[in-house]
Amino acid sequence: MRPEVLFPLFRPINTLKGIGPRLAALIEKLAGPHVVDVLFHLPSGAIMREEIETLTPQHLTRQIIIKTQVIKHHPSRSRRVPYKISCLSGDEKLTLTFFNGREDYLRRALPEREERIISGKLEQFSGSYQITHPDHISRINETADIKRCEPVYPLTAGVTSKTFHKALIQALEDLPHLSEWTDPHLIGRQNWPKWREALQASHNPNTISDLEPENLVRQRLAYDELLSNQVALELVRRSMRRRKGRRFEGKDGLITQIENALPYSLTHAQQSALSEIFADMHSDNRMLRLLQGDVGSGKTAVALMALAKCVQSGAQGAMMAPTEILARQHIESIKPFIDAAGLNVALLTGRLKGKKREALLEEIANGNIHIIVGTHALFQDDVIYHDLGLAIIDEQHRFGVHQRLSLSAKGRPDKGGVDILVMTATPIPRTLALTAYGDMDVSIIGEKPPGRKPVTTRAIDIARLDDLANSLSRKLADGERIYWVCPLVEESEVIDLAAAEDRYEYLNRLYPGHVGLVHGKMKADEKDAAMQNFKEGVTKILVATTVIEVGVDVPEATVMVIEHSERFGLAQLHQLRGRVGRGGLEGSCLLLYTGPLGETQKARIKIMRETEDGFRIAEEDLRLRGAGEFLGTRQSGMPVFKLADLAHHSKLLNVARDDARAFLEQDPELNSERGQAIRTLLYLFERDSAIRYLSSG
Ligand code: ADP
Ligand code: MG
Repeated sequence: MRPEVLFPLFRPINTLKGIGPRLAALIEKLAGPHVVDVLFHLPSGAIMREEIETLTPQHLTRQIIIKTQVIKHHPSRSRRVPYKISCLSGDEKLTLTFFNGREDYLRRALPEREERIISGKLEQFSGSYQITHPDHISRINETADIKRCEPVYPLTAGVTSKTFHKALIQALEDLPHLSEWTDPHLIGRQNWPKWREALQASHNPNTISDLEPENLVRQRLAYDELLSNQVALELVRRSMRRRKGRRFEGKDGLITQIENALPYSLTHAQQSALSEIFADMHSDNRMLRLLQGDVGSGKTAVALMALAKCVQSGAQGAMMAPTEILARQHIESIKPFIDAAGLNVALLTGRLKGKKREALLEEIANGNIHIIVGTHALFQDDVIYHDLGLAIIDEQHRFGVHQRLSLSAKGRPDKGGVDILVMTATPIPRTLALTAYGDMDVSIIGEKPPGRKPVTTRAIDIARLDDLANSLSRKLADGERIYWVCPLVEESEVIDLAAAEDRYEYLNRLYPGHVGLVHGKMKADEKDAAMQNFKEGVTKILVATTVIEVGVDVPEATVMVIEHSERFGLAQLHQLRGRVGRGGLEGSCLLLYTGPLGETQKARIKIMRETEDGFRIAEEDLRLRGAGEFLGTRQSGMPVFKLADLAHHSKLLNVARDDARAFLEQDPELNSERGQAIRTLLYLFERDSAIRYLSSG
């Protein structure tokens, strides 16, 4: 239950005065549904104003605050002419100009012969000083109302900065006093303000530099959020540790059989990842492990061996892929070896229906099928396993912590539940990995199988499309295959799709009958057919939206053309590039752009040309785009931070992790005074679902 002290912060926005349902809906979209979300919506900039006594040309175009005497109103006689008010500041004339100004309001706000303090941007108009639509008008004794440094917030249409302020000021008034959750030594060392003061200060900057991530106020707030993230993950991790897992035992016969059937021997990197996985499986801890390896590093073989270990001890293994195409590819690549070992493997996807599905579910339930490969369909309610021991989730930066855990529910508690191995080809920068996978142990395959040639990367102006397209004929004559990616972006899917179809037709005119098209709007079997044709070489150029992004293996593919390469993150470009040059032939990756290139784009291309190290690319991507953009964080299951900025606060993240670990070691049930405060912190950042992982529930 949410602590009472937080109630004022979790009121809905429409309980604030002056915020009706329409505005509340807009603010909710902008910041979130509760008062606390308004408070956590921090300013992104500020307007600095200079308080001056006399107008001089040197103040032109600047934001100023000045005292002025109202002389005379000149209401407008037509819509096209603005309402003007002549004033005098010292000896200088100043005109205040209002388009569509309402006379009654203006006469009340700026009565003739009275003095007012006004602020706004100073301009010059037909030789005299002018301020158009002053930001503030106040009486002489109310100057405190005008801020020398006014914070500016990211806003959306329909929410003006005035309205947002109105909500914010009320929210700040109700700010509760919360007990300190952060280690007092750390606070002392860092010289951080208290939470309440920090939040107030964050909305009342004195200078632009107060808004920088390195500012003490911002650091403090970021740390709170990171600490809540790390405590939550640590609670999950500890709870996994507490639950007894299964010891996978039995002779290594199957593993040896499969290893012998492989046409290659495992690399050192694969072997060492595997021995970490086996160590988890042998122990009675429950495995929750992340296997990171760049595209083409050979994760599938590692997965296969882990499945063998699982089946060998009498349990079933499941492997889940994010798409049907990938699930099919997995089963194709592992089936020969599983067959060789005399085991049964089956594919279960959403497409399997009716009698066939029932029959398969029956075989899964009675244990006839040893290894099940599929999509999300693997974990639907009516899928009952005889004895699921290991779940492998491939390419899964689409799941959150709790989804990972719900998979374990498919196992048999009496046998020790399900071990989980998550595989990802997306090199996740260390900082992000900590926030998303801090509950997991990590193995890394840091070396690729031998014999792979580097892929050359070039940027090409779209104006040279014809040259490029014609130059492909030689490659095609040599039997090489080409991916041609036309990305879809959400806002204009129809237009994008049309662009992909146009490109398909254009290429098909040049190479009739040799071009295929695959996109997300196609039916599953049409997609499969298009992919299959490309694999078999029936088509030699495959125009695709991003469906091939996550791992289809076609050894003959040597060229990757990426249109609108600026729409992809570097990590995604790297993934796409990893699709070519797999079969021992030299690969190339051509990044098409619409010129001229900006600085960031040049930097991006430079990085892509310089390195094929996925981790380095990911770090650079994070640096160039910020964590919010990285991988499209919201959809990716990566946590979203409101106050922390991982591009700047990664040091704090490490501190938070050490702090969370050390503290929970001392007070695993969050019972101490600081423990109680940390509970409140979890609720404050809505990470309270982690509280159920306390052993006392
Ligand atoms: P990813 O890590 O991207 O899933 P895959 O498992 O698909 O990589 O492996 C990529 C390719 O490398 C596959 O064709 C696979 O057969 C091959 N491969 C995997 N391990 C080795 C190895 N130790 N030696 C040689 N080739 C390997
Ligand atoms: Mg793979």
